[in-house]
Order: sequence, then C-alpha cells, then structure tokens
Amino acid sequence: MIQAPKGTYDVLPADQPARRLLETHAQRILGAAGYSRIETPAFEATELFARGVGEATDIVQKEMYSFDDGGGRSLTLRPEGTAPVCRAYIEHGMHKLPAPVKLWYLSSFFRAENPQRGRYRQFWQVGAEVIGAAGPEADAELIVLLLELLEEMGVSGTRLRLASLGQPETRGAYRAELSEYLRAHADELAPEVRSRIELNPMRAFDSNDPGTRAVMAGAPKLIERLAPEDAEHFAGVRALLDAAGVRYEIDPTLVRGLDYYTRTLFEFTSDALGAQSGVGGGGRYDRLIEQLGGQATPGIGWAAGVERILLAAPVMPAAAELVDLLVTVAERDSRPARAVAFEIAREARRAGLAAQLELTGRSLKSALKHADRLKARYVAIVNDADTAQLRDMTGGQQHELAGGAVVAAILRGSRL
Ligand code: ATP
Ligand code: MG
Repeated sequence: MIQAPKGTYDVLPADQPARRLLETHAQRILGAAGYSRIETPAFEATELFARGVGEATDIVQKEMYSFDDGGGRSLTLRPEGTAPVCRAYIEHGMHKLPAPVKLWYLSSFFRAENPQRGRYRQFWQVGAEVIGAAGPEADAELIVLLLELLEEMGVSGTRLRLASLGQPETRGAYRAELSEYLRAHADELAPEVRSRIELNPMRAFDSNDPGTRAVMAGAPKLIERLAPEDAEHFAGVRALLDAAGVRYEIDPTLVRGLDYYTRTLFEFTSDALGAQSGVGGGGRYDRLIEQLGGQATPGIGWAAGVERILLAAPVMPAAAELVDLLVTVAERDSRPARAVAFEIAREARRAGLAAQLELTGRSLKSALKHADRLKARYVAIVNDADTAQLRDMTGGQQHELAGGAVVAAILRGSRL
C-alpha cells in the first residue's frame, strides 16, 4: 500500500465543515476591513526565500524543500507567505494602487520539520498583509483582526505576546552590548549558553538554567534600547491595543524565526496546544520590499496555522448535507427510464435543488434504503419514458406523475 508522505495528511470530507468555517470567518472579518484575497504559486525561486526570509534563519537553513527544476534553476516549495506576497506586490506594480494594499491568503506551506501534533511538512496558514502603511494603526488593526478570527473560531486559552525589535542597526548594537554583558558574567552561565555567546546571545533568554536565568534577569533588553522613533511607534501600538481592551504581555525575549522584521513583533499562543503552542504571529517588515528589489515601502503582516487553530478550537459536529431528491429507476435495465432519470436530476439541479442520481445500479429496495441514509426528502422512481413515482420520504406517500412534472411538484412542496 502506498501511503501519504510522512508529515502530510489528507483533508477528508469530514474535515471540511471546520475548514470551511475558518475560511468563511476569515473572508468575512478580513473582507470587511478591506483586505482582498491573493494566492501565489506553491513554489518560487529559492532566491526569494534566501533573500526574503534570511539566510541565517532556521527556515532557510534547515526547513526548505528545494529542488532543481531541470533547467539549472533552484525552486523551493513555499515555506511561508510574506516573501511571495511581497514578490507579487512588486511584480504587479501594486505600488500604483491606492495605498495601503491589504491582502490575505489561505494556502498550504511546506517545511521539512519533524512531524508532531500541530507540526506538519505540508500545513495551511491563513495570513494577512498590509503594504504601504507605516503608522501604528496598521499594526494594531492586524493584531485585532487576528484576535477576532481566533475568538470567532473559539480558540481557547490564547495569550498575546508583544515586542518591538526596532531597526537592524539597533539590533546589531544591542547584540554587541548583550554579548559583552554575557562575557562579563560567563562563569555564572550554563556551559551551552556560554559557548553560544557570540553565535546567538539572544538564545540565553530561553535558558531554563537557574544561574543563567539570574544573570538574564539583569541583562539589558532590546526594548530599552530602541531609537526614539521606534519607541514612539511601539507606544502608539500599545496605546491602541489598550484602548481596544486587548490583553497582551510585553515580552522582551520574543524572537521569531524570520530575519525581515522591524519594529512590532507579536505572537498568539494557546494553552490548549501543548508543545506546539504558537497559533499565529507576525510583525512589521519595513525593509523587506526594498530588499526584494521594490521601492522602499513599509509592510506588516501575520500568519496563523490552520491546523493549530482547529486543534485549539472546539470540535464541530458535521452538519448533514441537505438532499432534496434522489432519482432512481424502477427497472435497472430500462435504458429509456435511465435517460429520463438522468434528465430529471439535471433539471432539479438547474432549479436549485440538491438532487442526486442513483449511480450504482442498485435494486429499487436498496435505492430506497440509500435514500434513507442520505436523508433525502424525495425519491423519484422513473417507471418508463413517461411516468415516475414521486415518494415523499418524510410521510411515505407516493404519487405517480409525468416525468417532466417531478421537479415542479417538489418545488410546489405539494402535499402528495
Ligand atoms: P513554531 O515556533 O511552532 O515552529 P514558527 O515560528 O516557525 O512556529 P511561523 O513561521 O511564524 O511559525 O508561522 C506562523 C504559524 O504557522 C505558527 O504560529 C503555526 O501556527 C503555524 N506553523 C508553523 N510551522 C508549522 C508546521 N510545520 N505545521 C503546522 N503549522 C505550522
Ligand atoms: Mg518553526
């Protein structure tokens, strides 16, 4: 038996209602705020992610499915949506559109990760981007829209963490300051933290070692080193969230795995998720469009994991599909009757009814049983080229009428 590749899964019919609900809520919430849907290709030039996500990130270093397209070009299955959306923004000259350009997507993404609950190799994200708005209102609006989507889906136990990264220059100077602080306290640090002081001093904030934690409590925080304009922007975002009654924690240690962020950074987690607790997050990327060859244009966006939203949301009972009519024949071998049955089903659908044709050649008895299973309201049993029995499955009454009159009779809702 050939199975689906490790870390992938089938979206089965039973999974559709919950997914459709998410799509409907996203469309409604984001659409009402003026966001239009965009879909980009499943693969892109590898260069896009190397430049857009950052060579040094885990995504680019370890998680990309890259392949040669046969013509010597390296392509990559998209691991995230922001770089492709920005590529499309530049490619289609969207800077000529009235600013800001507000886009959302619901697509699948690919990362070579160790599969676990809530972590897959092909997964879905719903995401939103605002390109061409620099003010804190865009940041706060996006956060509020994601919160509303999570609330609408019933995601439980959510927490919002917020930080500001300032600009890359500030970050560089801060890293140097933090490294120096860590070197000064080197003998109080856990060995693995000590060995990574130069490579990634920020990681020291994640350590569980008591000695390291004590040192980190007194460490300088990036948030305290922001340039005045960046600090002011951050204060603006917080003021809007405060006024909207959104609860959040400032987390100076928040780091997300993408290099392109500037200023605001945020992440929603859910206590309902266990180890893979990140539901969605995002941030501002004011340098990204320029880095990808466009004009300097500010941007901000988020992405949320569809599987994680569904894992953290209450299980939805699948609503039964409505079936108005099942059309079958009295005599399996009657070609003319089968042709009439075929036509009745088509006519019924054109009239807006949910109508199914019996396709397996079942006996009449078993077709009626099937209609019960489907909870069909009516069954039409075509006798010959001219007549059909129309059976009301709720009351069991049955009437003979002309084949061509079946649909009209159902539409009249006639008491048979
Ligand atoms: P994590 O820390 O869990 O690896 P991340 O920081 O890599 O998440 P992002 O790149 O910010 O995640 O993607 C946004 C969201 O997409 C995450 O919050 C998560 O809900 C979802 N997500 C990321 N990677 C996966 C995956 N491999 N499988 C399923 N969902 C994922
Ligand atoms: Mg990850």
